[in-house]
Amino acid sequence: MSDLAAKSDLDYDVAIIGAGMVGATLASLLSRCGFAVALVEAHEPQPFDANAEVGLRVSAISPGSSAVLEQAGAWKAVSAQRARPYRRMQIEDGVEMDPLLFDAPVFNMERLGTIVENALLQWSLWQVVKSGGLVDVYCPEQLDSIGFSKNRNRVSLKSGRIITASLVVGADGAGSRVRKAIGIRQDYYAYNQHGLVAVVGKHKPNPGVAWQRFLPGGPLAFLPLADGRSSIVWTRPSLEAERLLALETTDFIGELDTASSGWLGKVESCGPRAAFPLSMRLSECYASQRTVLMGDAAHVVHPLAGQGVNLGLTDAAALTELLIRVRLAGGDIGSAMVLQDYGRGRRSESEAMAFGMHALRSLFGIEGLSPVRRAGMALVKRSWTIKDIFLQRAAGTANNAPKLARGATLRDLTGGLSRSAYG
Ligand SMILES: Cc1cc2nc3c(=O)[nH]c(=O)nc-3n(C[C@H](O)[C@H](O)[C@H](O)COP(=O)(O)OP(=O)(O)OC[C@H]3O[C@@H](n4cnc5c(N)ncnc54)[C@H](O)[C@@H]3O)c2cc1C
Repeated sequence: MSDLAAKSDLDYDVAIIGAGMVGATLASLLSRCGFAVALVEAHEPQPFDANAEVGLRVSAISPGSSAVLEQAGAWKAVSAQRARPYRRMQIEDGVEMDPLLFDAPVFNMERLGTIVENALLQWSLWQVVKSGGLVDVYCPEQLDSIGFSKNRNRVSLKSGRIITASLVVGADGAGSRVRKAIGIRQDYYAYNQHGLVAVVGKHKPNPGVAWQRFLPGGPLAFLPLADGRSSIVWTRPSLEAERLLALETTDFIGELDTASSGWLGKVESCGPRAAFPLSMRLSECYASQRTVLMGDAAHVVHPLAGQGVNLGLTDAAALTELLIRVRLAGGDIGSAMVLQDYGRGRRSESEAMAFGMHALRSLFGIEGLSPVRRAGMALVKRSWTIKDIFLQRAAGTANNAPKLARGATLRDLTGGLSRSAYG
């Protein structure tokens, strides 16, 4: 890190690289409590068209995450459109286990989560940051390099613009250029599996159940959509996924029918299919040199419990709370202490989630009725760990969850101070 850097004409408290679901949420949260925010994004999202066919990418948004998105100003628009709450989760092992059922009322919850198209969430967040007038959005624009110094970082953009900021946030996805610029190493584990996705209609409409069957080779999930169809995520070994993608629709439906037999009757329709490679990635640390990582830039987990974007939104909420506390105390938001606080807390949580998903995937991936698989499944049935993963975290009620995920408002956190009190 070099000595002090002069402010550029474009000087901010926080410069966020990447306006995916995570970066855009952070930009909105921080700007709403008075931080000067720059948001740099390579591609503007497509406008969401409620009359178009349902998108292939959807996310199971936990109640904790929807509370965060509400404070970011995007949840109202999302929940008024094609979003489907689900109140039951049903997990089967496809061999011998009675289904494992989680019902929202049993856990004093109104819903266990909401299935939302990524395109809807991205567009709603984009509208908030673009139209709110509080965030300076640079798009289409890309990060070129970062110059690190003691008091602020200099962010060079591909267009030649230079911006300076007390803190830089890398929310630029799994291939993060920000992570490479700080030189943070990453552990990478390729599952040699793909997640095959499609929109599927069964004989009976999905009654609002997130259903998952663990099959040898990977889980198959049916997530409920607003129109009664389901969005499937079918994890298969990569070569097998390639074969399934190449099948004629009727042949694919036949195989999907067999894999999901007994639940909601026969598969009656199936739209286009796509498949995404699955991996686990954990950055060695999440913060260094006035720069932090969040979302997929910091961690990528197996999608079997639908936690990837939820973890990223928790990163955004945790950083927002930390920066508000530091600003209220008159401190430096890019100091080593802030970075350490954020990095330690967020890495331990995402590490637990990544390895939890890894263990579940390995356990359920064991073929046949081996004693190990049987003992493991019995443990899962009784275990509070899985309930913790699926429910406490989902609800935002885990002890270490950010206050925003537990229903606190930005106003609560800032003590009702006006935006100018931060300026
Ligand atoms: C099959 C599948 C199913 C999934 N289901 C779920 C689920 O149900 N629930 C869940 O929580 N998660 C789920 N996930 C995970 C989830 O999709 C990701 O965790 C999430 O999309 C990550 O969001 P992000 O904002 O961190 O990154 P991204 O969505 O990758 O966004 C990064 C942004 O940065 C921009 N960018 C990149 N580089 C630059 C640059 N140099 N300059 C400027 N901009 C840049 C990109 O254009 C992009 O907009 C699933 C994943 C898969 C593969």
